[in-house]
Amino acid sequence: MQLKTILNRVQKHPLFVYGQPRLAQQDEEPVIEVPVRPRVGSRPKCSGCSQPGPGYDTSPERHFEFVPMWGTRVFFLYPMRRVDCSDCGVRVEEVPWAKGKNQLTTTYRWFLARWAKRMSWKDVAKAFRTSWEHVFSSVEMAVTWGREHRDLEGIEAIGIDEIYWSKSKKFLTLVYQIDQGCKRLLWIGRKRRVKTLLGFFRWFGKERSQKLRFICSDMWKPYLKVVAKKASQAVHVLDRFHIMSHMSKAIDEVRAQEVRLLKAKGLEPILTRTRWLFLKRVCNLTRTQGTKLANVLQYNLRTVRAYLLKEEFQFFWAYVSHAWAGKFLDRWCTKVMRSRIDPMKKVARMLRRHRPLILNWFKAKGQFSSGAVEGFNGKARVITRRAFGFRTYEALEVALYHTLGELPEPIFTHRFC
Ligand SMILES: [Zn+2]
Repeated sequence: MQLKTILNRVQKHPLFVYGQPRLAQQDEEPVIEVPVRPRVGSRPKCSGCSQPGPGYDTSPERHFEFVPMWGTRVFFLYPMRRVDCSDCGVRVEEVPWAKGKNQLTTTYRWFLARWAKRMSWKDVAKAFRTSWEHVFSSVEMAVTWGREHRDLEGIEAIGIDEIYWSKSKKFLTLVYQIDQGCKRLLWIGRKRRVKTLLGFFRWFGKERSQKLRFICSDMWKPYLKVVAKKASQAVHVLDRFHIMSHMSKAIDEVRAQEVRLLKAKGLEPILTRTRWLFLKRVCNLTRTQGTKLANVLQYNLRTVRAYLLKEEFQFFWAYVSHAWAGKFLDRWCTKVMRSRIDPMKKVARMLRRHRPLILNWFKAKGQFSSGAVEGFNGKARVITRRAFGFRTYEALEVALYHTLGELPEPIFTHRFC
């Protein structure tokens, strides 16, 4: 069997034919070169208007990199013709395997982009002996295509979240679709201001915004304001994940204060290395952590009291009745206000202020995927932290869309990976 036969099976172009592949040397490594020529009698297509026209002349041979085979890089060799187009003038021809001045074939770019979903861009570059820039531009192409071709119909529930990108020392606003059957990243905006979220609604469009039934977000004021203005018909839910993270932050603050206090009294060891014990759910603790927590809980510490208040609040989410949940919330807040633990009191005041939106959780229960925002938040953090080597905001944005956007891909006759 000849290499040509395989090529014609996996990548056929009706107006072009493959010549005899040969082994060559490039930068002291073997490569496979495949000459390509136009089918006899075919006319070149103008790259300006895609119409066939009379040939003008032929440029020197160009190399287009294709999917590697057996660890050997593969190149198509083709001298581009120029077309004397009646509309556009003299133009270089359009070829089906690559776009514009790109040195990589489109198939190879999709190949790299797909691998970049499974491993870091750096590893992809290494595995296929190409550059980080080539991997990046391939992913960027996949994201651009995917965003242009995705279907935005039928979106009923969205979640608004923010993540902190330490490189730019700024927040990013992320909007997810969190419908039961479809969860994906929809949109990314710089910062987390009124203007940022307005940008989302402008992009999403009035008609689609009016069809939203549930919006899940944090208690961040700019978000509340914009949602009330742009999608007033939707039930706005302050979600569990964000509320519980406010409590975790409060406990962290109490703990830090208390550590300083104990240190002054020379009782320091009680709270050392306990940070994660208080922040994790009990069911997620290891056996050793569990023992350690049980030990710390014996002391009448402010941190311990704050922790118990948070654990008690977990019952809130299990209520079925809106009214009973409301009563529980009020009782809990009263208790906290008497606790003399300031960071927790701050949380209680915040919950009181947003009582109706918090109770919306029970109105919306089961109608959207409630854990989705938390899940996405975790993944987005991993991506922003992972050593993709992105130096710019644009690269980060591309990486987030690529991994979390569930973007569509064109249909190919052959799947290379
Ligand atoms: Zn033309």
